[in-house]
Amino acid sequence: MTAWTLARTGYEVLLLDAKTFPRPKPCAGWITRAALRDMELDETSYPHLLTPITRVAIGLEEGLQVTQWPEAVSYGILRRELDDLLLRRAKAAGAEVRLGCRVDRVELCSDEVIIHSGTNSIRGSLVVGAGGAACPVARAAEGKSFWKQRTRVGSQMSETHIGHHLLEQSGLGTGMPVLFPEPECDGYAWYFTKGDYLNIGVGALAGGLAIPLRRQRFLERLIRSGILPSSWKLSPFTGHSYAVWRGFRHPLAGPRHLLIGDAAGLAHDFSGEGIGPAVQSGLLAAAFIRSGAFRHPSPGSSMDPYTQSLAKLQGNGLFSAMGGFLERLPLPVRRSMVHHLCRSPWLRRRLVLEGAFLGKEL
Ligand SMILES: Cc1cc2nc3c(=O)[nH]c(=O)nc-3n(C[C@H](O)[C@H](O)[C@H](O)COP(=O)(O)OP(=O)(O)OC[C@H]3O[C@@H](n4cnc5c(N)ncnc54)[C@H](O)[C@@H]3O)c2cc1C
Repeated sequence: MTAWTLARTGYEVLLLDAKTFPRPKPCAGWITRAALRDMELDETSYPHLLTPITRVAIGLEEGLQVTQWPEAVSYGILRRELDDLLLRRAKAAGAEVRLGCRVDRVELCSDEVIIHSGTNSIRGSLVVGAGGAACPVARAAEGKSFWKQRTRVGSQMSETHIGHHLLEQSGLGTGMPVLFPEPECDGYAWYFTKGDYLNIGVGALAGGLAIPLRRQRFLERLIRSGILPSSWKLSPFTGHSYAVWRGFRHPLAGPRHLLIGDAAGLAHDFSGEGIGPAVQSGLLAAAFIRSGAFRHPSPGSSMDPYTQSLAKLQGNGLFSAMGGFLERLPLPVRRSMVHHLCRSPWLRRRLVLEGAFLGKEL
């Protein structure tokens, strides 16, 4: 988004990615309407799989609790398709794209930035760190404190081409994300069918039960309850760690760099929604670069204006505060609170789904 916006407005942009596109990306592929709008995409012209979401269920011991809306509140997409489209769009606007180009090290100097990739060194006036949860720009800026400053979530997911008819015939249904609070109430597992695909995964705050054990427990539960046919061969699960936003902890910009998306640790607490914040921060970064304002701290603030604006964009902090609060409670109390939130139709709709997952300010 940053490269596209800057290239469109006449900037000379070089976009590097370690992978070649289209590439797989561990993600459930749930995007909000706001994220789609921010990407300047819409339901009628999007050229790939776009499954409207009008129902979301929460899986409790007594069964699925379904919440419904009269129109699409979100969409299901395949990340390899969406990301490839965004990359191609940036290229078409004039950004130079180099794929299969892993950045090994970044030097942030006072007068320039040096990017080291294999035997090549690339010099520029500014770098935008968009390299995800282990972004080399963020690591160069923050050094050893990089992970210490972030609230980390571990995850594993698998996306398998099953076929629409088989999915319809199974107990999984189609086009409805189903979320299962983890028994430890420190994360959730999910399944989500879209088009021909079944996406299954689990994510939880780091430090608790190991993710592979949670995955195994979840799959056994789905098979035992007859939802997931045991004969289906799922694509291998892939693991990924990323950070969720618990408020401003470290500067997200310096004189010659800006961090966006997972590199800045912006995924929303509770829901793990990271596509929307990545897009919004990408747009904000482009706007700040164009204005030149990110270089100078605001009067009376220790934060640079980019970080300050980003912190505001991240919302009123209710869900981060709730996440931090719940985490400190003893497990039985936490469990009872989470189950109360999910069982009450009103709280489930307003607070859990529309608030935490659909990003509506409360
Ligand atoms: C299992 C899982 C499920 C999720 N589900 C959802 C969901 O349903 N909805 C949602 O909104 N969010 C979801 N998220 C979060 C979301 O995927 C991320 O927040 C989002 O992808 C962040 O985008 P990004 O562009 O910052 O980083 P990424 O999408 O991770 O992109 C980073 C890019 O940088 C490249 N890169 C990395 N290191 C280097 C390097 N050294 N040199 C060059 N290139 C490099 C990578 O190849 C990659 O293309 C999920 C995350 C996980 C792990």
